[in-house]
Amino acid sequence: MTQIDPKWQEEIAKRRTFAIISHPDAGKTTMTEKLLYYGGAIREAGMVKGRKNSKHATSDWMEIEKKRGISVTSSAMDFVYKDHHINILDTPGHQDFSEDTYRTLTAADAAVMIIDVAKGVEAQTIKLFKVCRMRGIPIFTFINKLDRHGKDPFELLEELERVLGIRSYPMNWPIGMGSYFNGVYDRVKSRVELYEEGGNHEEIKFFEVNGPEDPLIGQRVGEDLWQQLQDEISLLDVAGDSFDPELISKGELTPVFFGSAINNFGVQTFLDNFLAMAPAPSPKKSNIGPIDPYTRPFSGFVFKIQANMNPAHRDRVAFLRICSGRFERGMTVKHVRLNREIKLAQPLQFMAQDREIVEESFAGDVIGLFDPGIFQIGDTLCVGESFEYEEMPHFSPEFFSKVTVKDAMKHKQFQKGIMQLTEEGTVQLFRTSPMDELILGVVGVLQFEVLEYRLKAEYGVDISLQRLPYQIARWLEGDKATINTLMNRSQTVKDRYERPVMLFESEYQLRMAQEKYPSITFHESSLGL
Ligand code: GDP
Repeated sequence: MTQIDPKWQEEIAKRRTFAIISHPDAGKTTMTEKLLYYGGAIREAGMVKGRKNSKHATSDWMEIEKKRGISVTSSAMDFVYKDHHINILDTPGHQDFSEDTYRTLTAADAAVMIIDVAKGVEAQTIKLFKVCRMRGIPIFTFINKLDRHGKDPFELLEELERVLGIRSYPMNWPIGMGSYFNGVYDRVKSRVELYEEGGNHEEIKFFEVNGPEDPLIGQRVGEDLWQQLQDEISLLDVAGDSFDPELISKGELTPVFFGSAINNFGVQTFLDNFLAMAPAPSPKKSNIGPIDPYTRPFSGFVFKIQANMNPAHRDRVAFLRICSGRFERGMTVKHVRLNREIKLAQPLQFMAQDREIVEESFAGDVIGLFDPGIFQIGDTLCVGESFEYEEMPHFSPEFFSKVTVKDAMKHKQFQKGIMQLTEEGTVQLFRTSPMDELILGVVGVLQFEVLEYRLKAEYGVDISLQRLPYQIARWLEGDKATINTLMNRSQTVKDRYERPVMLFESEYQLRMAQEKYPSITFHESSLGL
């Protein structure tokens, strides 16, 4: 019997769960701080950054993080705003951690894409965008740093379309930029929101107008900027895309907002519009069909495992996205892969600063579970009828190394360590076919260092890493005989699920192979294989 409790349904409908995607330095941390500030989750700006130096980040191997000044940690933060319960999935910004970021995106129902007005669409944004695209989640764009001079707004929209293949609908439009930045014209509410240099913009200062032709605008921002605004809005009205909620919900049209996160300008407008358009938790695919968040009892999947958040204990935390029903502390749930009941005694919820024990959560929320080594990325936990959520996809690593153990006597610990650490998901493990050599693949090279450090610290094993010239991995699907022939090549390997994968040194090599073997599909990720 399905359990339907109206209170749960109300709670679930309030949930909005999203991840922020951007290239480093575009302003993700700043934006997160401002959003949390609206939720009252932090008292002042700067606290999210502080997290990097807080007590969770002091374990040994995070020395690497400190040395490099980048964030290895990533978590989920939640806050309540205007009767919505919002979960922000924090995605590691540095390129070295993108595999984790990719996975985090599988737990998000929407994405917020932050773009630096001067830099436009950058490399890491492209990669993360592709994953959102594959999942068909809605994507909201915030073009940041309008207080600085940047690219022409039309050029940026054109870039979104040309580079990312997504059409856009500007919800507001900048009036000037850099030292001439006066604010934005809100196309929906037909009003001008005023930017003041040095202002904190805690309350939106605006005046309502009768369209962009309203002379009031000219009086406030000057004739030249007013004329420019009229020309640009009329161009948008005539030649731009129209507002289409259906296309937005499929991630084919992105609503675009302009602002300056550091000055808190445009953040609240963004948040209000985002909440109006972003989806509540929706059914997720499983091996018994879509799982409805409202009518099913508790279920969820592990999308990330993080080790050593607490230096005193070498514990791991598994992050679980709740996909249906209600969760309660102390609940007994089924661990489907292990076919075993487990009790979730000390679940954690993550705030901007701290983690605390959670008593109750609902579909859409993320909880952290202490992991004594029983969880893997992609594991399903549920109550009632057993099922499994879709397998967590793997994405092409960009750096590859052959790994061997220095002391052959430690082979057993080495195997165990490699298996366990690669299960966490930031490093992929491949095996060569005839020789059974181990090849590691990562999205960013720092993960090699982290793995080497942790194998030594946690398993007492020294390893040698030999960098290989490959840059691309493709999962092979198609004619079995051809795949078997390809398996004899040294560049064809198997992933941990025995799926054939071919490694390439360049795009050029990949294209050659695609032309030579038309019966084979070369997949960029293992999604759906
Ligand atoms: P992240 O790497 O994407 O998390 O970016 P941060 O939020 O750390 O921001 C990168 C840099 O850009 C920092 O020095 C911020 O102070 C700065 N920044 C963020 N938002 C703005 C903005 O709206 N205007 C300007 N001028 N600088 C900004």
